Amino acid sequence: MSRTNLLDFDLPGLAAWFAQHGHKPFRAKQVMRWLHQAGEADFARMSDLSKDLRAWLGEHATVVEPGVMRDSTASDGTRKWLFDVGIGNGIETVFIPEPSRGTLCVSSQVGCALECAFCSTGRQGFNRNLSAGEVLAQLWWADRVLPRDPVTRRGAVTNVVMMGMGEPLANFDAVVTAMRVMLDDHGYGLSRRRVTLSTSGMVPWIDRLRETLPVALAVSLHAPNDALRDVLVPINRKWPIAQLLAACRRYVDGVPVDARDTDPDDAPPPPTTRWQRQAAPRDFVTFEYVMLRDVNDTLAHARELIDVVGDLPCKFNLIPFNPFPNSGFERSHADTVAAFQATLIDAGFVTTVRRTRGQDIDGACGQLAGQVRDRTQRAARRADGAVAA
Ligand code: SAH
Ligand code: SF4
Repeated sequence: MSRTNLLDFDLPGLAAWFAQHGHKPFRAKQVMRWLHQAGEADFARMSDLSKDLRAWLGEHATVVEPGVMRDSTASDGTRKWLFDVGIGNGIETVFIPEPSRGTLCVSSQVGCALECAFCSTGRQGFNRNLSAGEVLAQLWWADRVLPRDPVTRRGAVTNVVMMGMGEPLANFDAVVTAMRVMLDDHGYGLSRRRVTLSTSGMVPWIDRLRETLPVALAVSLHAPNDALRDVLVPINRKWPIAQLLAACRRYVDGVPVDARDTDPDDAPPPPTTRWQRQAAPRDFVTFEYVMLRDVNDTLAHARELIDVVGDLPCKFNLIPFNPFPNSGFERSHADTVAAFQATLIDAGFVTTVRRTRGQDIDGACGQLAGQVRDRTQRAARRADGAVAA
């Protein structure tokens, strides 16, 4: 009989699973804390569970640890893992340490079907969705192996961004389940502002996210008009900019009160679907804008961008293009990026430029290629001993 991977469950799911097998649902909280706060994978060591329950879990449950194919650290401290997700396929997870926070960039799919022109993941095509357990295992692993603060014992990961390989909204259920554990007090206890989902613009699922688990939202805009965005982000042909911006406005405008996650032991949420405006993270959207030389980076583009977003509450994050072989694009000059940024700032938009991290290990945005197709390269790496056991 196959054992159930407990990393696949959020708290309500785990409680239901216990109940279904005749155990007390409140055990779920204890087990969640062992799994995600203590990083414990061995049921025998979960000392506040009865001996019988520990034995039963040993028979019926498991914790599927990710297989590490490679583990590399860049000169700037950025660390990248390549995790094995089955026959020749790998996904990448990147940890970016900064003085005031540690951000984990998590993958949601093996490859990506959306084929954005400038994205290395998109170039490889789509292989499959990750399970909730495979999404969560990336955080579970990083939290376990990264050194904790020696004084506070806090873990190194303070923020999670769903900006690795894949389109997270195209794998909605698994991603939402995993993010629930990230937010859960019995899981990682991250606030909604510290979990960011980045999407290329899958409009109906932006609405579903708003209704289900409104975390911080980043939208890959990359172009100020449909003609250009159709080419750079092909999903735009299905959901053009006007529809995308309307969904962003709905996202920042409000969520139903009873959409918020509640503790299963608490009183049920009110039976109304009252809509109310709530504080951050839903009071603005972050627009990501990759800076491609002579493609989307002129001041005319910046002015068009200002017009098109209008009074939508938003911030901009300019991402200097990260090159990869045969991409066909070049990174904008630093002066061009600065002028573009100044134009947006002058118009009143908070605008940051993303610092490129981990370049010497191909750990930067859009460079995550995993090993979806490239089995020869993997074989070569194995041969030269670069694969960590
Ligand atoms: N699929 C989601 C999330 C993953 S990509 C999305 O597209 O939003 C995270 C960000 O990196 C996106 O904004 C994406 O457009 C950007 N990106 C992709 N390739 C890039 C590259 N080569 N250089 C810089 N940014 C890139
Ligand atoms: Fe997929 Fe995002 Fe890459 Fe586009 S940018 S191909 S949506 S991972």
